[in-house]
Amino acid sequence: MVPLIAERMDDQFQQAHAQRMQQKKAQVDAAVERSRALQGVVVLLTGHGKGKTTSAFGTLYRALGHGQRAGLVQFITGTQSNGEVTFLLQQGLLGQGAFARVAYHAMATGCTWNSQGWAADKAAADIAWQAAQHMLADASLGLVLLDELTFMLEYGYLDASDVAAAIRARPPAQNVVITGRNAPPVLLALADTVSEIADTRHAFRAGIKAQAGLDF
Ligand code: ATP
Ligand code: MG
Repeated sequence: MVPLIAERMDDQFQQAHAQRMQQKKAQVDAAVERSRALQGVVVLLTGHGKGKTTSAFGTLYRALGHGQRAGLVQFITGTQSNGEVTFLLQQGLLGQGAFARVAYHAMATGCTWNSQGWAADKAAADIAWQAAQHMLADASLGLVLLDELTFMLEYGYLDASDVAAAIRARPPAQNVVITGRNAPPVLLALADTVSEIADTRHAFRAGIKAQAGLDF
């Protein structure tokens, strides 16, 4: 039975609690000690639930907050404005030169269902991938965000092993965040951290329209 608050206050309970916390702290400290020092990590955010791109941008803003420069490639999206990129633009953080806080490229072919045909989409994907390759070779970028990259592999616009090789060969301290549904096995194998966001419920299915500031 769960003890009442009053019972929890007795000395024995408090001592046992302090001991448990101390043990936990020792375990966490040991794990931190064992973990390797500064090393770039590949984070993969996949699954059918909402929260992949927004989480990835949260991480990009974190990197900027620590004074890092970042690279951003938006695959698929880009014709429609979205709050996360508009904000960077408004803050004067976005650009293409070596001095931009966020080096940026948008594939700008629109959503998958607005396809301009496979060949045109592939050509746009190749150009976006060239931009991504530059970023993945640039040690001055602390973080590179490849938003919706998974679709490029799913539709065969980019070669999965080329993508994996460029990510593996990046500067050692650079972090990479990849988003998109249906991540292929090669990305799942490559990533150090994988979060699969489940689609437990989404307002859209209850008839609520996508909202500015929440969904784009
Ligand atoms: P977000 O950008 O909100 O973090 P996401 O990156 O996880 O979403 P995508 O698969 O890229 O999701 O979907 C793009 C758009 O569809 C976004 O506007 C997003 O809010 C919306 N969306 C995401 N998941 C769902 C869902 N399960 N049902 C309907 N719409 C969704
Ligand atoms: Mg997304």
